[in-house]
Amino acid sequence: MAKYVYDFTEGNRNLKDLLGGKGANLAEMTNLGLPVPPGFTITTDACRHYLAEGSLPDGLEQEVAGHLAALESTMGRKLGQADDPLLVSVRSGAKFSMPGMMETVLNIGLNDESVHGLAKQAGGNDRFAWDSYRRLIQMFGKTVLGIDGDLFEGALDRLKGRRQDTDLDAGELQQLVEAYKGIVREQTGADFPADPREQMRLAVMAVFDSWNAPRAILYRRQERIPADLGTAVNIMAMVFGNYGDDSGTGVAFTRDPGSGQQGIYGDYLQNAQGEDVVAGIRNTIPLQDLERIDPSSYRELLAIMETLENHYRDLCDIEFTIERGKLWMLQTRVGKRTAAAAFCIATQLVDQGLITMDEAVTRVTGDQLAQLMFPRFDGGAEKKKIAKGMNASPGAAVGKAVFSSERAVELAEQGEDVILVRRETNPDDLAGMIAARGILTSRGGKTSHAAVVARGMGKTCVCGAEELEVLPAERRFIAPGGVEVSEGDVISIDGRTGEVFLGEVPVVPSVVVEYFEGAAEPADDLVKAVDRIMRHADGARRLGVRANADTPDDAARARRFGAQGIGLCRTEHMFLGERRQLVEDLVLATTDEERQAALDALEPLQKSDFIGIFQAMDGVPVTIRLIDPPLHEFLPDLVELSIKAATQEATDKDRRLLSAVKRLHEQNPMLGLRGVRLGLVIPGLFAMQVKAIAQAAAEVPGARPEIMIPLVAAVQELESVREEAVKILAETGVEALIGTMIEVPRAALTAGRIAEAAEFFSFGTNDLTQMAWGFSRDDVESSFFHRYLDLGIFGVSPFESIDREGVGRLIEIAVAEGRAARPDLHLGICGEHGGDPDSVHFCHDAGLDYVSCSPFRIPVARLEAGRAALAENESDTR
Ligand code: PEP
Ligand code: MG
Repeated sequence: MAKYVYDFTEGNRNLKDLLGGKGANLAEMTNLGLPVPPGFTITTDACRHYLAEGSLPDGLEQEVAGHLAALESTMGRKLGQADDPLLVSVRSGAKFSMPGMMETVLNIGLNDESVHGLAKQAGGNDRFAWDSYRRLIQMFGKTVLGIDGDLFEGALDRLKGRRQDTDLDAGELQQLVEAYKGIVREQTGADFPADPREQMRLAVMAVFDSWNAPRAILYRRQERIPADLGTAVNIMAMVFGNYGDDSGTGVAFTRDPGSGQQGIYGDYLQNAQGEDVVAGIRNTIPLQDLERIDPSSYRELLAIMETLENHYRDLCDIEFTIERGKLWMLQTRVGKRTAAAAFCIATQLVDQGLITMDEAVTRVTGDQLAQLMFPRFDGGAEKKKIAKGMNASPGAAVGKAVFSSERAVELAEQGEDVILVRRETNPDDLAGMIAARGILTSRGGKTSHAAVVARGMGKTCVCGAEELEVLPAERRFIAPGGVEVSEGDVISIDGRTGEVFLGEVPVVPSVVVEYFEGAAEPADDLVKAVDRIMRHADGARRLGVRANADTPDDAARARRFGAQGIGLCRTEHMFLGERRQLVEDLVLATTDEERQAALDALEPLQKSDFIGIFQAMDGVPVTIRLIDPPLHEFLPDLVELSIKAATQEATDKDRRLLSAVKRLHEQNPMLGLRGVRLGLVIPGLFAMQVKAIAQAAAEVPGARPEIMIPLVAAVQELESVREEAVKILAETGVEALIGTMIEVPRAALTAGRIAEAAEFFSFGTNDLTQMAWGFSRDDVESSFFHRYLDLGIFGVSPFESIDREGVGRLIEIAVAEGRAARPDLHLGICGEHGGDPDSVHFCHDAGLDYVSCSPFRIPVARLEAGRAALAENESDTR
């Protein structure tokens, strides 16, 4: 019989797949002896079954009943019992945290009878009991019954007027309960379910269903969380932070998630339940103030925080409730943090002796490093500061202010940079947050929804800028001094300082980029941490890292960023600008002499290009790819030429060009006359390039050219180009490896043959993906990929991250067959995937020798290559 339910005493933190992050960590804390209210977890297996079959798995309800009975006996109360009720919370908890994306229902077990029992239990505290009851109907109504939450909010607002929710007395709350029940009846045509077990059953199913809510789907896609994991459900005895002023609820971090500094970071809200903190209905107080309010709970909390840090050996975030002076832990997890904090914390933990340097490298990611390479505001620039909030998520963002998620999406689609300005965000703002450059809120702390989600996305966020009066309906905000910002006005927000500026503030590169550029010595803590981690990653990695660069400037930058060579120097960019003319001459040539004259004119230009690059790379390998795109790409546009030809102005050359363009026109140019085919069809073209490479190499001491032939599908193509190239190299006395790109599926499948004529392979995964999937690389991402992502056909575009199953398999075949034919075959990748973290791990696993990527991705690839090697060591020893 499958087991679908685990008591908190049965699980542990390693069971996240089954119990979700929250359930696994509640179990871990329970077993550590920390004060966790008793409860149990329904597994993700049950959720997956429910989502697939549309019904709860057989036996689940009996299993839940058994665990509930055990919980009732531990608590000495029965769920919803009229005179002395046990209440429970039902909370979602997936393997990966999805803040605020899924559902929670508190206070289950209340109805018209048990509300009196609860009041009695609370020593006659009627207010508390009715407050809990109205919260149940509100949360249940919204989450389980799908009623518009604004209807409940509206009723609450009407009742409280300008007062706080805590000012409502028991009678008023009872009145509110009646109003809420009316809303339920009106909206669903049925009464609010009074049966506690029915409440619990419906809430469990609602949590399961919330896995597929649109906002959860969107969040998963953004965060690349697989769509098929499902969520667990945690059922826990309620503890109450809304008893009165001796109670409350809070969230905390064991160190600053923004900078990594040690200290006490958190928010506390007196007389409240958990959802109030996140929803920002009242302003929280800093956690430090709890010391004054309830010193003994405060001390206990600090001690628990230390226990958790030492146990998890990492920054933890926690949720807790204090019920009449008794502290309860409701959640913990290894906390989200900014990219800068991730680097600083990792090295701090090494210095504290909690983790090793190897672990430190695995604790940071290439994506985080990439975020640190974002620009920041120019310190010297003139700025008009209009407000200051909290520095919730770093970066420098400039854009037009917008006041709704919809407008953010609309304007971003039109290519505008926008800053989403809200009082506070909620999960419905997700699409706007993704579309915006940055997020600004007037309420909420570093643990608010906006802050947590923005940090997770690596998006700039300033939150809790309380001086701003945000008026979403009027699409404007008012800053101190009467400064008004309306939709469309440009503002700049600084996620490192929390400052908000009117107008556009110029940005400068990050210190981390300056450090990579060699312009900054490791002076500040962040740069020091990055330096230590990068050195360690470099020491650990097996993969080499090269750059895709076609100009001396790019090559030089790549070198400074740590490139060990150039893996792809595309030569076609060298035929643009004024040199187009020469390509036109080449295409229009009608005799051998004319064609040779055009090539002779190009040769010295190419030679000087290569000299520049060889010099910049100073003795490391440079892989030069012979010309690849169809030649008509260098010619004027067909429509323009046709219009011109129809007028009197057209010259004879224009008319000849028009007929050449028509002659060269192809229905599928990406599958037409390009790559090696050009070399075979246009005599002398490749020879000219090889000569230019050889002559340039002869002039630059230490130059190490590698000649790469694109789009090869059959060994015969390569052989004939190779023969000519070998001859030219022999004549000039220059040594160069000759290899090929593997970017046509047939090349991958016949790699054993191709390796006979190639000293190296470089996987051109842009074309390989295009041809393996049959996806036009220039069209599909913007046309229908969103639908494919919605359907879960893939979780991320295969042009972004290697499709291991298909394209990856082609690579593995080519690696195995290529190496079998030529054991010293050198293997690399030069498609865009070379700088994608997940693809770097794939390349490591596939046994490639190097990855090649754009200069700015080089540090990311170095770090990920180190992480891949360390992950492998770890799995070896397991
Ligand atoms: C590739 O196809 O992956 C590649 C690197 O070549 P290009 O992008 O120039 O076609
Ligand atoms: Mg290609």
